[in-house]
Amino acid sequence: MYYPFSWLRSAVRLLAYLFIFALVGLYMDDMLFAVSLGAVGLLVTNYWQLYKLNRWLWHSRKMSPPTVSGVWEHIYEGIYYLQRRNRNKRKELGELVKRFREGSEALPDAAVVVDAKACIIWCNRLARLELGLKWPSDAGRRLDNLIRHPDFIAYFHAGDFHHPIEVPAPANPSKTFEYRIMPYGDEHLLLIARDVTRVSQLEEMRKDFVANVSHELRTPLTVISGYLEILPEERENPLLTKAVKEMSAQTKRMQSLIEDLLVLSRIEASSERIYENVVNMPAMLRQLEKEAATLNKEKQHSIHFHIDDTLTVFGVETELRSACSNLVFNAVHYTPKGGEINVYWQREHDDVRFAVVDNGDGIEESHLARLTERFYRVDKARSRKTGGSGLGLSIVKHVLSHHNSHLEIESSLGQGSRFSFLLDHELIAEQV
Ligand code: ADP
Repeated sequence: MYYPFSWLRSAVRLLAYLFIFALVGLYMDDMLFAVSLGAVGLLVTNYWQLYKLNRWLWHSRKMSPPTVSGVWEHIYEGIYYLQRRNRNKRKELGELVKRFREGSEALPDAAVVVDAKACIIWCNRLARLELGLKWPSDAGRRLDNLIRHPDFIAYFHAGDFHHPIEVPAPANPSKTFEYRIMPYGDEHLLLIARDVTRVSQLEEMRKDFVANVSHELRTPLTVISGYLEILPEERENPLLTKAVKEMSAQTKRMQSLIEDLLVLSRIEASSERIYENVVNMPAMLRQLEKEAATLNKEKQHSIHFHIDDTLTVFGVETELRSACSNLVFNAVHYTPKGGEINVYWQREHDDVRFAVVDNGDGIEESHLARLTERFYRVDKARSRKTGGSGLGLSIVKHVLSHHNSHLEIESSLGQGSRFSFLLDHELIAEQV
């Protein structure tokens, strides 16, 4: 019969045991000797039990504890219970790891887990196939010793894993892989590599197609507009006069659309390094001020340029000119007559900000997120009237992404808009 452990019962049993020896001692007339003998007997029994416990724990193959009684029975039961619980937990954990591994083997992507020292802990089958990892011989080797592409190594060492990168596959350079790294747990990293060959091929095809079509359309359009220009303006038939005027206007629109498409293609394909050339932004903005004044003849806005003449930056001049002029000309076009436009090129803390602020009609919140999409316009009819292609802000977006920046748009209906971007202090060139 198994009783739960009770201090009281143990104490009573100990006292009863010693009492028996005390009685014997009373009978033999030497109580101290008899009680000491009983205590020594108890000590020897306990040592014997400790010896048995040690042997069971370290040398016995049997899981079930030996049969004992008293306090030792509770100790054995307790240890046995803990062992059983641990064994079940280990089994559950093993099952979990097995299921996780089976799940990650079913992933359509290559997955690699590395520890804080960048050493490989585990990888799935696709990682072995596509990234050329060997298992288990590569376990414990540094990942950056096995994937040697310079872009990947730079990305891996930079430690900024917010965006994925695309790099040719190590085992097959004709394939393109998108590497995405996710930090988790105790400084561990999970690398997911996805085959994006087809997507990047399609993207390349799209870029080439747009660039080629725009280029091919330019020549016939130049011919048409050339002939339209040499046709006499006034003729007997007013319908013909109107037709020629409209044809000239539409040809110009198409030309500017094609120019914008070509600019966009050039920026997308640009591999020009932004740290190679210094752009004299103050001089470029003074030039832009003159161009804006010419464009402003009809609208009569008051335009003010606030330029810090000491701020020159590293970058691509044609691109930055395109971005700034698009923002300034948009303000001129979309602000109703007699508005106020302020253009800033000034320091903001250590960085430098370009901003165009107008007091025009503003843009509804719902449009803001989509403004930089190609051909997106808030008011199509008005945009067309201003000759806009719908590509201006898209060009700005690409230019800024090339300069590690992004367009910030703040606008409230009826009050005006602020289009701005911040260039990092690393891009500021020496003062002139
Ligand atoms: P578009 O060539 O038509 O001007 P953009 O890409 O430059 O195309 O601009 C997209 C849309 O954003 C424009 O159609 C216009 O509706 C809106 N927009 C741009 N700048 C301003 C501004 N300063 N104020 C109000 N609306 C603007």
